[in-house]
Amino acid sequence: MVCELISVGTELLLGNIVNTNTQFLAEKCALLGLSMYHQVTVGDNKDRLAEVIRAALKRSDIVILCGGLGPTEDDLTKEVCSEVMDFPLVEDAHTKGRLVEYFKNSIYKQITDNNWKQAMVPDGAKVLDNDNGTAPGLILEKYGKSAILLPGPPNELIPMFMNQVYPYLQNLQPEIIRSQMVKICGVGESRVEDMLLDLIDKQTNPTIATYAKTGEVHLRVTAKAASEEEADKLIKPVVKEIKKRFGDSVYSVKEDETLEMAVVKLLKKLELTVTTAESCTGGMLAARLVNVPGVSDVFREGFITYANKSKRKILGVSKSTLKKYGAVSEQTAKEMATGGVFATDADVCIAITGLAGPDGGTDEKPVGLVYIACYLKDNVTVEKYQFKGDRNKIREQSVVKALDLLRRSILDNYR
Ligand code: ATP
Ligand code: MG
Repeated sequence: MVCELISVGTELLLGNIVNTNTQFLAEKCALLGLSMYHQVTVGDNKDRLAEVIRAALKRSDIVILCGGLGPTEDDLTKEVCSEVMDFPLVEDAHTKGRLVEYFKNSIYKQITDNNWKQAMVPDGAKVLDNDNGTAPGLILEKYGKSAILLPGPPNELIPMFMNQVYPYLQNLQPEIIRSQMVKICGVGESRVEDMLLDLIDKQTNPTIATYAKTGEVHLRVTAKAASEEEADKLIKPVVKEIKKRFGDSVYSVKEDETLEMAVVKLLKKLELTVTTAESCTGGMLAARLVNVPGVSDVFREGFITYANKSKRKILGVSKSTLKKYGAVSEQTAKEMATGGVFATDADVCIAITGLAGPDGGTDEKPVGLVYIACYLKDNVTVEKYQFKGDRNKIREQSVVKALDLLRRSILDNYR
């Protein structure tokens, strides 16, 4: 089935707002196994909107429109779509009742006349209640096609889509779609694709989609089948093969497990405590760890030692090391990690020191040069990276690599 998205709003054309709805909807449609060939953005103009709706209904089975459902004059989506599909507008008592209720509980007690416009619905349309606003969503079905109208504000669109439209779209399809995530860290995107080329080339069902994240690659294996069991049967061997090829680089096969969650899970399992010693990342690594609820079992303190003086004072990095090799060096990273363990009595310390820029780089030590060290069991491992990107990108990549080094060091030592 082919699905098309139409975003309505002059502010989108002018670049005043970012079209996050399209990204959200496109991702969900892909998950549902719908094909998508067109995404259109159109301003709040009656004729042009009618034109894109007509074109969309000709070439796609499902047309999802977002925006322009509100009470004001420039909100035209419902009116234009009903006209194009030849649905008369009638008052919907249920929606009218909900509007009255909504305003009773709202700080704006006064219902202005234009609000009643929102109680008018195309005759025969499915009405989607809006629990977070006033404009209901609508589904218009005709000629074997569906037009789905959703409000523009993401806090209204997302729950309405997930609770009411997602199940509707699932029902339209004879087959069910199942997918499984495989999350990889420590292997670049092109290398991942290269290692999967044969699988990707011959893929039909299941399919493998790759998504590059900062320092990570996520793979989604998606199968279509008559039943969940059948779909799982198709997915399983492919996931097994991917895991075999990437080994320890696969840190999770769970949709909502992040890298830091996987790291904390590992620390907890082995009853290891960790501390952090950060320079250029200024606490970002600690913050990622603290994202995980229950991290207090394994993480008690971390250090931000930005200045040389504090690297010496808190972590005991020697004056001569700093003088001879500099703050951004293998030796300093090692001493930071070692010092972190001794200062806290933790089992593991992960240290980061680098040049995040934009200034301060030299030929010998360019911006993006980062050393990451991990102290574990009287052993320090150091890795050197030359990251690309702006200050923030360099810092983000450093944190991901630090989490990954921590994970791999533990796996290597406790197998
Ligand atoms: P309202 O009842 O608030 O007028 P609406 O359904 O008429 O809702 P619009 O008027 O088109 O929707 O947009 C309202 C607001 O919703 C925009 O100002 C913007 O903040 C957000 N919005 C609209 N379209 C999008 C989009 N495609 N992506 C992200 N946000 C959007
Ligand atoms: Mg509006």
